[in-house]
Amino acid sequence: MKPAKTAPVPISRRGLMLVISSPSGAGKSTIARTLLETDKQIGLSVSVTTRTRRPSEIDGVHYHFNSVREFERLRDSDALLEWAEVHGNFYGTPREPVEQAMSEGRDMLFDIDWQGAQQLQEKMSADVVSIFVLPPTMTELQSRLHRRAEDSEEVIATRLANSRSEIGHWREYDYVIVNDDLNTAFEAVQSIVRAERLRRDRRHGMFDFVSKLLEEKPVL
Ligand code: ADP
Ligand code: 5GP
Repeated sequence: MKPAKTAPVPISRRGLMLVISSPSGAGKSTIARTLLETDKQIGLSVSVTTRTRRPSEIDGVHYHFNSVREFERLRDSDALLEWAEVHGNFYGTPREPVEQAMSEGRDMLFDIDWQGAQQLQEKMSADVVSIFVLPPTMTELQSRLHRRAEDSEEVIATRLANSRSEIGHWREYDYVIVNDDLNTAFEAVQSIVRAERLRRDRRHGMFDFVSKLLEEKPVL
């Protein structure tokens, strides 16, 4: 006789730290935003920055906008898990929300640069999954920075000048995605997240599941 179907058994797992980096304008924030909207299991790590707020940004949602003095106070009191100077501004990841999420097995998304990715990799390598996003061409990168229309010409020029050295870090990442068609790039990120959640070493609940499975008496 076939046993009745039961509800799927939830198997507990560790949260993952999904790091997305790219040169400015390649589209990582767009991909990150779409992921946050469609996947309710993942939360955003909201960074602290000393950069000026863009017109479309909300304090506390996209960033915590702080003065240099306040940033230095946070950094010096060890409240930041990682920090870096990028394009002439300071950026850092508040430590407390990440530690809280990890202890509860929740996933977190980090839109941070290669310096931050390196620091997280050194500190929490078992939990980090990293993705580097490349533009299809340098010309397209430049037009995306202009199309975004949120930065001054001077800021765009600095970001373009820095993009070549940032791209040089692509080999330090677990996955590399070329963001030509946005849907295709987003689907690639979704596939990575789905597969990484299924990794055996992340699913500590599997020990319990397999023990119970083996205790089950055969149905005759
Ligand atoms: P980043 O966060 O990497 O600096 P954004 O996500 O802000 O880049 O994207 C820069 C600009 O490019 C935005 O105007 C965004 O709408 C646009 N964009 C992102 N991905 C694509 C794509 N695949 N094709 C065309 N435009 C894109
Ligand atoms: P933007 O000014 O375009 O928002 O970000 C500029 C760069 O800083 C991007 O590469 C972005 O990923 C990076 N960045 C944003 N927040 C952090 C952070 O907390 N730490 C680090 N290391 N980089 C960050």
